[in-house]
Order: sequence, then C-alpha cells, then structure tokens
Amino acid sequence: MNARFGIFVVVVSDIERNLNEVTERIAAAASRAGRDPSEVTLVAVSKTHPPSVLRAAIDAGALVLGENKVQEAESKIIELGRDAATWHLIGHLQSNKARKAVQLFDVIESLDSVELAQRLERICIEEGRSELAVFIQVDLAGEETKSGIPETELAPLIEFLRTCKCLRLNGLMIVPPFFDDPETTRPYFKRLRAIRDELAAKGAFSSGRGELSMGMSHDFEVAIEEGATVVRVGTAIFGAREYAAGN
Ligand SMILES: *Cc1c(COP(=O)(O)O)cnc(C)c1O
Repeated sequence: MNARFGIFVVVVSDIERNLNEVTERIAAAASRAGRDPSEVTLVAVSKTHPPSVLRAAIDAGALVLGENKVQEAESKIIELGRDAATWHLIGHLQSNKARKAVQLFDVIESLDSVELAQRLERICIEEGRSELAVFIQVDLAGEETKSGIPETELAPLIEFLRTCKCLRLNGLMIVPPFFDDPETTRPYFKRLRAIRDELAAKGAFSSGRGELSMGMSHDFEVAIEEGATVVRVGTAIFGAREYAAGN
C-alpha cells in the first residue's frame, strides 16, 4: 500500500522546522508588502506523502492540507480523520470523482468548468451538504496540458455560481508556468489580482474581497507581494517528492 506514496525521503523532525521557516518567510513577505501576515493562509501540500508525514505536519501546526488527487487523498483523509485538518483539493477534478471530492474536501480550489460546477452543485444537494467553498482555477497562459479555465470563459461560470444554493465562490487560483526565476511569474500574479479586483467590484465572491490562491515553494514570496491570500507550499515543507515507478 505504501508503494502508492513512492519512496519518501522526508525526515519527520525536519517538518516542524521547515514549517516554522515557511511561516516566518510568509510573515516577512507580508510585512515587506505592508500586509498583515494573518491575511495569508498556508496550505501545506502533502501530495505523494504518507499519512504519517501528514500527521507530523498537523502535529507541528499545519491547519490546512492540500492534495491533488481524490483517490490518493481518500485513504489519507479516512486514516487521519475528516476533522484532523481543513482539506483543500488543488488538482484537476475529473467528473467521475466529483462525489468523492464533495465527501472528502472542505474546499475545491480547482473548479474549471460550468459542467463541473453543475455537477458539484447537484451532488451537494443529493449529499445534504449545504455549503461547498470553491475557487476558480484560471489559466492565463493558455497551456494545453494544464487545467484551469481561460479568462475569456470566466463570465458564464461566474453567472452560474451566482445561481447556486450550495457552491460558494471564495476566490481564484492559478498555477502559472514554471520559471526558474520567480520574478518571471510576477506578471501572472498581477493579472490574477486585477481579475479578482474586477470580479470583487461586481460582487462575484461570497466573502466580499475574494481570495487569491497563488504561489508555491519557489515563488510564494513574490505571490504574497502581489496579494496572495492563500499560498500552496509542498517541497519547502516536506522536501522533494519522489514518485514510485509507474506513477
Ligand atoms: C504540487 C502543487 C503545489 C506545491 O508545489 P511545491 O512546488 O512543491 O510547493 C502547489 N499547487 C499545486 C496545484 C500543486 O499541484
């Protein structure tokens, strides 16, 4: 069973130190930008790591965990408990996994089509789940291999979400193209923030201002400078991921 998580190299005692270090870097980036560090939520991205590693992160103070695959997350969430953390789905959601996702996750950050929104809304009603927080994942780079909805297709999705009883649009999320130099990513963060501001002015978000989920291990400080309210950090907390052959 552990083969599904690959060979993991993280040392449990490192996790607490790494988590503290990332938390300090978040606070420093927020201060540099004249922001209150409490405006930024850290999602500890635990994909590929086994439940014991997630447990260590939770014990070290991680409140929110991010997983990118429903099936992989299922066994971990069942083992650790639905209430052990706030669980965010950050990977592409296939329609045949939507019901499982509704049962397992507190927040779905990767909503990227009207069809998926319709399905999630229907399942929430069937499952008696009164509220499900979602972020729309926006694709600003037109990368065919990545999930996310192009900016030009946002309007109908937002109109649909306005009619939903259960789905709550909390914010926007982006996975920009990878660049070695995080400064190259900055324009994507700026653009997402501008879109968020426009939508917030139209009252698109359930919580007024609207969250901005952007920034990963190598660029979360730049993202915070550009207004991120959620950062998704894996490697800087858990170390490098190793994938088992065949994964
Ligand atoms: C894996 C992943 C992350 C974390 O990436 P790191 O570089 O390890 O911090 C963040 N967001 C998404 C959507 C991911 O799939």
